[in-house]
Amino acid sequence: MNVLVMGAGQLARMMALAGAPLNLKVTAYDVNSAKVQHPVTGEIYPLTLEQAVAAADVVSSEFEHIPYPVQAVCEASGKFRPNSTAIKAGGDRRQEKALLDQAGVANAAYRVVQTESEFYAALEQLGLPLVLKSALAGYDGKGQWRLKQQADAAAVWADIAAFMAGAEHSLPQAIVAEQFVRFDREVSLVGARNAQGETVVYPLTENHHVNGVLTVSQALPSNEALQAQAKQMFDAVANQLSYVGVLALEFFQVGDQLLVNEIAPRVHNSGHWTQQGADTCQFENHLRAVCGLPLGSTALVRPTVMVNILGEDYVDPAVLSLPSCHLHWYGKGKRPGRKMGHINLCGDTPAQLAERFLALSTLLPEAGFPEVADVAKTLA
Ligand code: ATP
Ligand code: MG
Ligand code: MG
Repeated sequence: MNVLVMGAGQLARMMALAGAPLNLKVTAYDVNSAKVQHPVTGEIYPLTLEQAVAAADVVSSEFEHIPYPVQAVCEASGKFRPNSTAIKAGGDRRQEKALLDQAGVANAAYRVVQTESEFYAALEQLGLPLVLKSALAGYDGKGQWRLKQQADAAAVWADIAAFMAGAEHSLPQAIVAEQFVRFDREVSLVGARNAQGETVVYPLTENHHVNGVLTVSQALPSNEALQAQAKQMFDAVANQLSYVGVLALEFFQVGDQLLVNEIAPRVHNSGHWTQQGADTCQFENHLRAVCGLPLGSTALVRPTVMVNILGEDYVDPAVLSLPSCHLHWYGKGKRPGRKMGHINLCGDTPAQLAERFLALSTLLPEAGFPEVADVAKTLA
Protein backbone atom coordinates (compact mmCIF):
# COMPACT_ATOMS: atom_id res chain seq x y z
CA MET A 1 0.00 0.00 0.00
CA ASN A 2 1.04 3.60 -0.62
CA VAL A 3 0.70 6.03 2.27
CA LEU A 4 1.07 9.75 1.59
CA VAL A 5 1.98 11.74 4.71
CA MET A 6 1.42 15.48 5.07
CA GLY A 7 4.72 16.82 6.42
CA ALA A 8 8.25 15.64 5.61
CA GLY A 9 10.02 15.74 8.97
CA GLN A 10 11.39 13.08 11.28
CA LEU A 11 7.98 11.61 12.06
CA ALA A 12 7.27 10.83 8.39
CA ARG A 13 10.83 9.48 8.15
CA MET A 14 10.32 7.11 11.07
CA MET A 15 6.95 6.01 9.67
CA ALA A 16 8.69 5.14 6.39
CA LEU A 17 11.36 3.14 8.22
CA ALA A 18 8.72 1.27 10.24
CA GLY A 19 6.52 0.65 7.21
CA ALA A 20 9.16 -0.94 4.99
CA PRO A 21 9.00 -4.47 6.50
CA LEU A 22 5.24 -4.49 5.93
CA ASN A 23 5.66 -3.36 2.31
CA LEU A 24 3.98 -0.09 3.19
CA LYS A 25 5.51 2.63 1.06
CA VAL A 26 5.48 6.04 2.69
CA THR A 27 5.77 9.23 0.63
CA ALA A 28 5.89 12.69 2.21
CA TYR A 29 4.42 16.03 1.15
CA ASP A 30 6.41 18.98 2.44
CA VAL A 31 3.76 21.67 2.96
CA ASN A 32 6.40 24.44 3.03
CA SER A 33 8.04 23.65 -0.31
CA ALA A 34 4.90 22.04 -1.80
CA LYS A 35 7.12 19.13 -2.92
CA VAL A 36 6.39 15.42 -2.81
CA GLN A 37 9.44 13.57 -1.58
CA HIS A 38 10.91 10.42 -0.13
CA PRO A 39 10.85 10.89 3.65
CA VAL A 40 14.26 9.22 4.18
CA THR A 41 16.36 10.04 1.10
CA GLY A 42 14.74 13.39 0.34
CA GLU A 43 14.44 12.41 -3.34
CA ILE A 44 11.87 14.73 -4.96
CA TYR A 45 9.07 13.25 -7.06
CA PRO A 46 7.63 15.37 -9.90
CA LEU A 47 4.07 15.25 -8.56
CA THR A 48 1.56 17.85 -7.49
CA LEU A 49 -0.33 17.42 -4.22
CA GLU A 50 -3.43 16.39 -6.17
CA GLN A 51 -1.50 13.79 -8.18
CA ALA A 52 0.16 12.38 -5.04
CA VAL A 53 -3.19 12.16 -3.24
CA ALA A 54 -4.75 10.40 -6.25
CA ALA A 55 -1.87 7.88 -6.35
CA ALA A 56 -2.04 7.10 -2.61
CA ASP A 57 -4.14 4.39 -0.98
CA VAL A 58 -4.17 6.29 2.30
CA VAL A 59 -3.40 9.91 3.19
CA SER A 60 -2.16 10.72 6.68
CA SER A 61 -0.24 13.38 8.54
CA GLU A 62 2.76 13.91 10.77
CA PHE A 63 1.75 17.28 12.16
CA GLU A 64 -1.28 19.40 12.98
CA HIS A 65 -0.34 22.70 11.38
CA ILE A 66 -1.34 21.78 7.83
CA PRO A 67 -2.78 24.67 5.80
CA TYR A 68 -6.55 24.34 5.50
CA PRO A 69 -6.53 24.29 1.65
CA VAL A 70 -4.12 21.31 1.76
CA GLN A 71 -6.34 19.58 4.30
CA ALA A 72 -9.34 20.17 2.03
CA VAL A 73 -7.61 18.28 -0.81
CA CYS A 74 -6.80 15.41 1.55
CA GLU A 75 -10.30 15.27 3.04
CA ALA A 76 -12.01 15.38 -0.37
CA SER A 77 -10.14 12.20 -1.38
CA GLY A 78 -11.98 10.18 1.29
CA LYS A 79 -8.60 8.64 2.24
CA PHE A 80 -7.53 11.04 5.01
CA ARG A 81 -6.83 9.30 8.32
CA PRO A 82 -7.10 10.79 10.86
CA ASN A 83 -9.75 13.12 9.49
CA SER A 84 -9.46 16.86 9.07
CA THR A 85 -11.59 17.59 12.17
CA ALA A 86 -8.99 15.80 14.29
CA ILE A 87 -6.06 17.57 12.65
CA LYS A 88 -7.74 20.96 13.10
CA ALA A 89 -8.48 20.23 16.77
CA GLY A 90 -4.76 19.62 17.26
CA GLY A 91 -3.79 22.78 15.41
CA ASP A 92 -6.19 25.29 16.94
CA ARG A 93 -6.40 25.51 20.72
CA ARG A 94 -9.97 26.90 20.54
CA GLN A 95 -11.18 23.76 18.78
CA GLU A 96 -9.01 21.61 21.03
CA LYS A 97 -10.48 23.01 24.24
CA ALA A 98 -14.04 22.69 22.88
CA LEU A 99 -13.30 19.08 21.94
CA LEU A 100 -11.98 18.24 25.42
CA ASP A 101 -15.11 19.74 26.98
CA GLN A 102 -17.39 17.84 24.57
CA ALA A 103 -15.56 14.60 25.31
CA GLY A 104 -16.05 15.30 29.01
CA VAL A 105 -12.37 15.06 29.94
CA ALA A 106 -10.85 17.25 32.66
CA ASN A 107 -8.68 20.13 31.42
CA ALA A 108 -7.44 23.48 32.77
CA ALA A 109 -10.10 26.22 33.02
CA TYR A 110 -9.78 28.69 30.13
CA ARG A 111 -11.18 31.65 28.22
CA VAL A 112 -10.71 32.56 24.55
CA VAL A 113 -9.27 36.07 24.31
CA GLN A 114 -9.20 38.39 21.31
CA THR A 115 -9.52 41.87 22.82
CA GLU A 116 -8.07 43.78 25.73
CA SER A 117 -11.37 43.70 27.64
CA GLU A 118 -11.57 39.91 27.16
CA PHE A 119 -8.01 39.66 28.43
CA TYR A 120 -8.83 41.52 31.66
CA ALA A 121 -12.09 39.58 32.04
CA ALA A 122 -10.15 36.30 31.76
CA LEU A 123 -7.66 37.52 34.36
CA GLU A 124 -10.55 38.36 36.69
CA GLN A 125 -12.38 35.07 36.14
CA LEU A 126 -9.45 32.64 36.10
CA GLY A 127 -7.11 34.33 38.59
CA LEU A 128 -3.31 34.27 38.57
CA PRO A 129 -0.97 32.82 37.49
CA LEU A 130 -2.15 32.47 33.91
CA VAL A 131 -0.66 30.74 30.89
CA LEU A 132 -1.59 32.47 27.64
CA LYS A 133 -1.21 30.50 24.43
CA SER A 134 -1.57 31.45 20.81
CA ALA A 135 -4.59 29.55 19.49
CA LEU A 136 -2.77 28.81 16.24
CA ALA A 137 0.63 27.45 15.23
CA GLY A 138 1.99 26.78 18.73
CA TYR A 139 4.53 24.03 19.39
CA ASP A 140 7.56 23.44 21.63
CA GLY A 141 6.28 26.15 23.99
CA LYS A 142 6.42 28.82 21.26
CA GLY A 143 3.68 31.48 21.21
CA GLN A 144 3.13 31.39 24.99
CA TRP A 145 3.19 33.94 27.77
CA ARG A 146 3.11 33.57 31.54
CA LEU A 147 1.36 36.16 33.70
CA LYS A 148 2.29 35.82 37.37
CA GLN A 149 1.35 39.14 38.91
CA GLN A 150 -1.29 41.77 38.22
CA ALA A 151 1.40 44.45 37.90
CA ASP A 152 2.69 42.76 34.70
CA ALA A 153 -0.73 42.54 33.03
CA ALA A 154 -0.40 45.64 30.82
CA ALA A 155 3.06 44.62 29.58
CA VAL A 156 1.95 41.06 28.80
CA TRP A 157 -1.14 42.32 26.98
CA ALA A 158 1.04 44.70 24.93
CA ASP A 159 3.21 41.72 23.89
CA ILE A 160 0.19 39.62 22.99
CA ALA A 161 -1.51 42.43 21.05
CA ALA A 162 1.68 42.99 19.03
CA PHE A 163 1.95 39.25 18.40
CA MET A 164 -1.65 38.99 17.20
CA ALA A 165 -1.30 42.04 14.95
CA GLY A 166 1.83 40.55 13.34
CA ALA A 167 0.56 36.97 13.05
CA GLU A 168 0.45 35.77 9.47
CA HIS A 169 -2.31 33.24 9.29
CA SER A 170 -5.34 32.78 7.11
CA LEU A 171 -7.51 32.28 10.22
CA PRO A 172 -8.44 34.89 12.82
CA GLN A 173 -5.85 34.81 15.59
CA ALA A 174 -6.79 34.51 19.26
CA ILE A 175 -5.25 33.58 22.58
CA VAL A 176 -6.38 30.84 24.92
CA ALA A 177 -5.90 32.00 28.52
CA GLU A 178 -5.50 29.03 30.84
CA GLN A 179 -5.33 28.65 34.57
CA PHE A 180 -1.81 27.73 35.62
CA VAL A 181 -1.81 24.12 36.83
CA ARG A 182 0.51 23.31 39.74
CA PHE A 183 1.18 19.80 38.51
CA ASP A 184 3.27 17.14 40.23
CA ARG A 185 4.51 15.88 36.89
CA GLU A 186 3.67 15.68 33.21
CA VAL A 187 2.73 12.40 31.59
CA SER A 188 1.37 11.42 28.21
CA LEU A 189 -0.54 8.57 26.67
CA VAL A 190 0.07 7.42 23.10
CA GLY A 191 -2.39 5.00 21.56
CA ALA A 192 -4.06 3.94 18.35
CA ARG A 193 -7.66 3.62 17.21
CA ASN A 194 -8.72 1.73 14.10
CA ALA A 195 -11.70 2.29 11.82
CA GLN A 196 -13.70 -0.31 13.77
CA GLY A 197 -13.32 1.76 16.92
CA GLU A 198 -10.88 -0.61 18.64
CA THR A 199 -8.19 1.14 20.71
CA VAL A 200 -4.83 0.13 22.14
CA VAL A 201 -2.62 2.33 24.31
CA TYR A 202 1.00 2.22 25.41
CA PRO A 203 2.03 2.52 29.05
CA LEU A 204 1.89 6.10 30.37
CA THR A 205 5.09 8.04 29.79
CA GLU A 206 6.63 10.58 32.16
CA ASN A 207 7.92 13.67 30.36
CA HIS A 208 10.50 16.31 31.26
CA HIS A 209 10.64 19.67 29.48
CA VAL A 210 13.18 22.48 29.42
CA ASN A 211 11.77 25.83 28.21
CA GLY A 212 8.69 24.08 26.82
CA VAL A 213 10.73 21.52 24.82
CA LEU A 214 10.66 17.81 25.61
CA THR A 215 14.04 16.51 26.78
CA VAL A 216 13.40 13.11 28.40
CA SER A 217 10.52 10.60 28.25
CA GLN A 218 10.33 7.46 30.31
CA ALA A 219 7.82 4.64 30.03
CA LEU A 220 6.28 4.27 33.48
CA PRO A 221 6.10 1.08 35.46
CA SER A 222 2.50 -0.06 35.58
CA ASN A 223 0.10 1.98 37.71
CA GLU A 224 -3.28 0.44 36.96
CA ALA A 225 -5.51 3.19 38.31
CA LEU A 226 -3.66 6.01 36.55
CA GLN A 227 -3.40 4.01 33.33
CA ALA A 228 -7.15 3.28 33.41
CA GLN A 229 -7.94 6.96 33.99
CA ALA A 230 -5.76 7.96 31.03
CA LYS A 231 -7.22 5.23 28.80
CA GLN A 232 -10.77 6.35 29.58
CA MET A 233 -9.84 9.90 28.50
CA PHE A 234 -8.05 8.61 25.41
CA ASP A 235 -11.14 6.63 24.36
CA ALA A 236 -13.45 9.58 25.02
CA VAL A 237 -11.37 11.92 22.82
CA ALA A 238 -10.63 9.35 20.10
CA ASN A 239 -14.29 8.28 19.87
CA GLN A 240 -15.51 11.90 19.80
CA LEU A 241 -13.30 12.42 16.72
CA SER A 242 -14.00 9.02 15.07
CA TYR A 243 -10.23 8.95 15.11
CA VAL A 244 -8.14 6.54 13.01
CA GLY A 245 -4.40 6.35 13.62
CA VAL A 246 -2.06 7.12 16.50
CA LEU A 247 -3.15 9.88 18.86
CA ALA A 248 -1.29 11.33 21.84
CA LEU A 249 -2.74 12.99 24.95
CA GLU A 250 -0.49 15.16 27.14
CA PHE A 251 -1.53 15.39 30.79
CA PHE A 252 -0.77 17.30 33.94
CA GLN A 253 -0.82 14.98 36.94
CA VAL A 254 -2.06 16.61 40.15
CA GLY A 255 -2.07 14.08 42.99
CA ASP A 256 -3.72 11.05 41.40
CA GLN A 257 -5.83 13.12 38.99
CA LEU A 258 -5.05 13.75 35.34
CA LEU A 259 -5.94 16.91 33.41
CA VAL A 260 -5.49 16.90 29.64
CA ASN A 261 -3.07 19.65 28.60
CA GLU A 262 -3.28 19.14 24.87
CA ILE A 263 -3.67 16.51 22.18
CA ALA A 264 -1.45 15.65 19.22
CA PRO A 265 -3.30 14.01 16.30
CA ARG A 266 -0.22 12.05 15.23
CA VAL A 267 2.71 9.97 16.39
CA HIS A 268 4.39 11.84 19.24
CA ASN A 269 7.88 12.57 20.54
CA SER A 270 6.93 11.05 23.91
CA GLY A 271 6.24 7.77 22.07
CA HIS A 272 9.67 7.40 20.45
CA TRP A 273 10.76 5.03 23.23
CA THR A 274 8.35 2.45 21.74
CA GLN A 275 10.90 1.79 18.95
CA GLN A 276 12.97 -0.22 21.43
CA GLY A 277 10.71 -0.58 24.46
CA ALA A 278 7.38 -1.81 23.09
CA ASP A 279 6.25 -4.88 21.20
CA THR A 280 5.06 -2.74 18.25
CA CYS A 281 6.39 0.79 17.87
CA GLN A 282 4.05 3.78 17.50
CA PHE A 283 5.07 4.34 13.86
CA GLU A 284 4.12 0.81 12.85
CA ASN A 285 0.87 0.98 14.81
CA HIS A 286 -0.05 4.26 13.15
CA LEU A 287 0.46 2.69 9.73
CA ARG A 288 -1.43 -0.43 10.74
CA ALA A 289 -4.37 1.67 11.92
CA VAL A 290 -4.59 3.91 8.85
CA CYS A 291 -4.06 0.99 6.44
CA GLY A 292 -6.77 -1.15 8.04
CA LEU A 293 -4.34 -3.79 9.34
CA PRO A 294 -4.75 -5.40 12.78
CA LEU A 295 -3.31 -3.23 15.56
CA GLY A 296 -0.11 -4.52 17.17
CA SER A 297 0.59 -5.23 20.82
CA THR A 298 1.53 -2.13 22.81
CA ALA A 299 3.03 -4.15 25.66
CA LEU A 300 6.18 -2.85 27.33
CA VAL A 301 9.02 -5.21 26.48
CA ARG A 302 11.54 -3.69 28.88
CA PRO A 303 12.02 -0.49 30.87
CA THR A 304 13.02 2.27 28.40
CA VAL A 305 13.92 5.94 28.45
CA MET A 306 14.22 8.35 25.52
CA VAL A 307 16.53 11.37 25.42
CA ASN A 308 16.12 14.10 22.79
CA ILE A 309 19.16 15.52 20.98
CA LEU A 310 18.55 19.27 20.65
CA GLY A 311 20.49 21.52 18.27
CA GLU A 312 23.55 19.22 18.04
CA ASP A 313 24.66 16.99 15.17
CA TYR A 314 27.33 15.10 17.06
CA VAL A 315 27.11 12.58 19.88
CA ASP A 316 30.11 10.71 21.28
CA PRO A 317 29.92 7.30 19.52
CA ALA A 318 30.87 5.76 22.88
CA VAL A 319 27.16 5.94 23.78
CA LEU A 320 26.69 2.98 21.41
CA SER A 321 28.97 0.87 23.59
CA LEU A 322 26.44 1.09 26.42
CA PRO A 323 24.22 -2.01 26.50
CA SER A 324 20.80 -1.52 24.87
CA CYS A 325 21.54 2.02 23.74
CA HIS A 326 20.16 3.08 20.34
CA LEU A 327 20.78 6.25 18.39
CA HIS A 328 18.22 7.70 15.96
CA TRP A 329 19.30 10.65 13.80
CA TYR A 330 16.77 12.56 11.70
CA GLY A 331 19.16 13.73 8.96
CA LYS A 332 18.21 17.38 9.51
CA GLY A 333 20.33 20.52 9.22
CA LYS A 334 21.72 21.87 12.49
CA ARG A 335 19.85 24.80 14.08
CA PRO A 336 19.90 25.97 17.70
CA GLY A 337 17.44 24.00 19.81
CA ARG A 338 16.19 21.95 16.86
CA LYS A 339 15.16 18.34 17.43
CA MET A 340 18.03 16.56 15.64
CA GLY A 341 17.61 13.01 16.87
CA HIS A 342 17.03 10.93 19.97
CA ILE A 343 18.55 8.16 22.01
CA ASN A 344 16.58 5.18 23.33
CA LEU A 345 18.06 3.32 26.26
CA CYS A 346 16.69 0.11 27.78
CA GLY A 347 17.41 -2.01 30.84
CA ASP A 348 16.20 -5.41 31.99
CA THR A 349 14.96 -3.88 35.24
CA PRO A 350 14.14 -0.30 36.33
CA ALA A 351 17.26 -0.32 38.52
CA GLN A 352 19.48 -1.41 35.64
CA LEU A 353 17.96 1.24 33.39
CA ALA A 354 18.58 3.94 36.03
CA GLU A 355 22.21 2.83 36.32
CA ARG A 356 22.69 2.87 32.53
CA PHE A 357 20.96 6.24 32.25
CA LEU A 358 23.40 7.73 34.72
CA ALA A 359 26.29 6.29 32.69
CA LEU A 360 24.77 7.66 29.47
CA SER A 361 24.28 11.13 30.98
CA THR A 362 28.01 11.42 31.73
CA LEU A 363 28.67 11.05 27.97
CA LEU A 364 26.19 13.77 27.01
CA PRO A 365 27.15 17.45 27.21
CA GLU A 366 24.72 19.98 28.72
CA ALA A 367 24.57 21.72 25.31
CA GLY A 368 22.24 19.53 23.30
CA PHE A 369 21.04 17.69 26.40
CA PRO A 370 19.78 20.34 28.82
CA GLU A 371 19.15 19.02 32.34
CA VAL A 372 19.45 15.40 31.23
CA ALA A 373 22.12 14.74 33.87
CA ASP A 374 19.75 16.11 36.55
CA VAL A 375 16.89 13.88 35.39
CA ALA A 376 19.23 10.88 35.29
CA LYS A 377 20.24 11.55 38.90
CA THR A 378 16.65 11.82 40.11
CA LEU A 379 15.76 8.51 38.47
CA ALA A 380 18.80 6.72 39.88
P1 ATP B 1 4.25 20.75 22.28
O1 ATP B 1 5.61 20.87 21.70
O2 ATP B 1 4.15 19.69 23.34
O3 ATP B 1 3.16 20.67 21.27
P2 ATP B 1 3.11 23.34 22.95
O4 ATP B 1 3.90 24.47 22.43
O5 ATP B 1 1.89 22.96 22.21
O6 ATP B 1 4.06 22.09 23.15
P3 ATP B 1 2.02 23.07 25.65
O7 ATP B 1 2.22 21.62 25.73
O8 ATP B 1 0.62 23.57 25.72
O9 ATP B 1 2.76 23.75 24.41
O10 ATP B 1 2.87 23.79 26.79
C1 ATP B 1 4.26 23.58 26.90
C2 ATP B 1 4.61 23.31 28.36
O11 ATP B 1 4.26 24.47 29.17
C3 ATP B 1 3.83 22.17 28.98
O12 ATP B 1 4.44 20.92 28.69
C4 ATP B 1 3.91 22.55 30.45
O13 ATP B 1 5.17 22.25 30.99
C5 ATP B 1 3.75 24.05 30.41
N1 ATP B 1 2.32 24.45 30.54
C6 ATP B 1 1.44 24.59 29.52
N2 ATP B 1 0.21 24.92 29.97
C7 ATP B 1 0.30 25.00 31.31
C8 ATP B 1 -0.63 25.29 32.35
N3 ATP B 1 -1.91 25.59 32.11
N4 ATP B 1 -0.17 25.24 33.64
C9 ATP B 1 1.12 24.94 33.91
N5 ATP B 1 2.04 24.67 32.97
C10 ATP B 1 1.65 24.70 31.68
MG1 MG C 1 1.32 21.28 21.27
MG1 MG D 1 2.73 20.08 24.68
